[in-house]
Amino acid sequence: MSKSKQCEAVRVVVRCRPFSRKEESQGCEDVLQIDDRLGQITIRNPKAPPDEPMKVFTFDSVYGWDSKQVDIYDDAVRPLVESVLKGFNGTTFAYGQTGTGKTHTMQGVSNDPEMRGIIPNSFQHIFTQISRTQNQKYLVRSSYMEIYQEEVRDLLCKDNNKKLELKENPDSGVYVRGLSSVVTKNATEIEHVMNIGNQSRSVGFTNMNERSSRSHAIFVITVECSEVGPDGEDHIRVGKLNMVDLAGSERQSKTGAKGKRLKEAAKINLSLSALGNVISALVNGKSTHIPYRDSKLTRLLQDSLGGNAKTVMIATVGPSHKDFEESLATLRYANRAK
Ligand code: ADP
Ligand code: MG
Repeated sequence: MSKSKQCEAVRVVVRCRPFSRKEESQGCEDVLQIDDRLGQITIRNPKAPPDEPMKVFTFDSVYGWDSKQVDIYDDAVRPLVESVLKGFNGTTFAYGQTGTGKTHTMQGVSNDPEMRGIIPNSFQHIFTQISRTQNQKYLVRSSYMEIYQEEVRDLLCKDNNKKLELKENPDSGVYVRGLSSVVTKNATEIEHVMNIGNQSRSVGFTNMNERSSRSHAIFVITVECSEVGPDGEDHIRVGKLNMVDLAGSERQSKTGAKGKRLKEAAKINLSLSALGNVISALVNGKSTHIPYRDSKLTRLLQDSLGGNAKTVMIATVGPSHKDFEESLATLRYANRAK
């Protein structure tokens, strides 16, 4: 990765998952072509005549079906976490259709070292860095919440059905009133916190995938560092890292949703489009107004998107011709953020 890339405020990468067994047995066609050297992804419309030109998109990086969890972390996320350790805020999120690998990328499989995703890898990274420092004292706190239907719930609280309110205060900005914040001293402890939150995410839904496809999960780590300066005074710097597994981006109207489900779908689409608008306004650089207030998600992430904060967007896509429309929509969404 070049130096200039590391300095950019918003990085956009795309990850394509491999065919599933089912897709393989159904003989699905691969409509994506990846050139990781050029950071290009080409998508072919399976219904188009053969002479129609294919669409090509260029991103900061693209990762094919054989990419490793550690590649994504080292290449795309490590610089972001480094900057959080230096006292800046940062956000990384996975965006894409349900089933394309958002949770795989963010979470992965915790008990398999090679399959660990961004969140557990960041724990290792943060606590390893801290253990190497000598003259600083660190305090690491974490929170884990979910936004479902524009309502915020604490995933670390026993009473996780309570709806929490967003508040604003002139010093600390937007915060969630009453949200748990747990101090952890090492990677094992913070991993335990994550597992508790993950368990609480599945409660109340018959099917984990059903819930995760419709809610945003946000894991927040705050790293506070205090150091005695040359003046003999304590200096404190605070960095905050948000890691977000977004709701599925698929158009719910197509799935035939009605009534309650349709209203829910509108709310999901609202925060995903609000996030897209905020990022595109930031990247574009010409807008004087950044529409943070349009959704709970963007209000919550306000101090960690734009300004001095870095953002890494990971768009996930599937290779099958059956997902062509959704994959194209995801690539377009990601493309707006460049
Ligand atoms: P999402 O969270 O976007 O709905 P998941 O992360 O649950 O999708 O992934 C769907 C399935 O595909 C899971 O079985 C997951 O293990 C598998 N999968 C996703 N991405 C990859 C990948 N890059 N390599 C291997 N398997 C993957
Ligand atoms: Mg998921």
